[in-house]
Amino acid sequence: MLDCGTGARRLGHRLLQEPGRKLHLLFTHYHMDHVFGFPFFAPIYTPGYDVRITMPAFSEEEARDKLARYLNGVYHPTRLRELQAQVSFAVERPDRVFDLDGYSVVGLRLNHPGGSVGWRITAGGRSVVYMTDTSPFTKPGLGVAAGQEPDGREVRVIEFLRGADIVVYDTMYELDEYLERMTWGHSYPEYAIALCRAANVRKLVLFHHAPDHDDDHIDAREARFKHEVSPTVAVAREETTMNVEG
Ligand SMILES: [Zn+2]
Ligand SMILES: [Zn+2]
Repeated sequence: MLDCGTGARRLGHRLLQEPGRKLHLLFTHYHMDHVFGFPFFAPIYTPGYDVRITMPAFSEEEARDKLARYLNGVYHPTRLRELQAQVSFAVERPDRVFDLDGYSVVGLRLNHPGGSVGWRITAGGRSVVYMTDTSPFTKPGLGVAAGQEPDGREVRVIEFLRGADIVVYDTMYELDEYLERMTWGHSYPEYAIALCRAANVRKLVLFHHAPDHDDDHIDAREARFKHEVSPTVAVAREETTMNVEG
């Protein structure tokens, strides 16, 4: 499970119906929209669950403290130490490959105020990359989105994305909105497409929709990119299941 937004509530209830009791939860960073659903995630209140949280931090105490500040009796009535599940914390730094129960995972530092980490998860020769939250890695008019050679950090990002089957990418803005908010730490679809094309990604999922973009806007986006083939482009929707192999 990647991050804990509002979708964590319904997912938690669904997981209770399934036999597995061991869960891995990977965080990208601690902005509210990524941790908000954690105290509403039913498995953490259910004895017998083993919830293993991996997050970018310097120490286990720091990782625990990031969530304990939210679950502290003030912002939510539950305190982290009161959870009935067994909840443990592991710390990982970007650029280091590690194993989560047979899934090989590696992180990449992103371009976001306060920091964020993208995760690439590989198993059985298939890879999924979750890249949020992040601004483009170069200035407008330069790099892959401008039809030029990849610029500076883009080279590393393209290597990170190389050959992935599915990339879920932060495309919160349209280009004109991005140009007005370049320091806010989010991207736009044409940038994600250019990076994924350079990296030979199979399928791109546009994600982290702006709250001001309504369903009609998202539908128009989907129609705008439906003819793309390298990569193919989909928009993220609640409750969608995607097959990594097809
Ligand atoms: Zn953020
Ligand atoms: Zn966010």
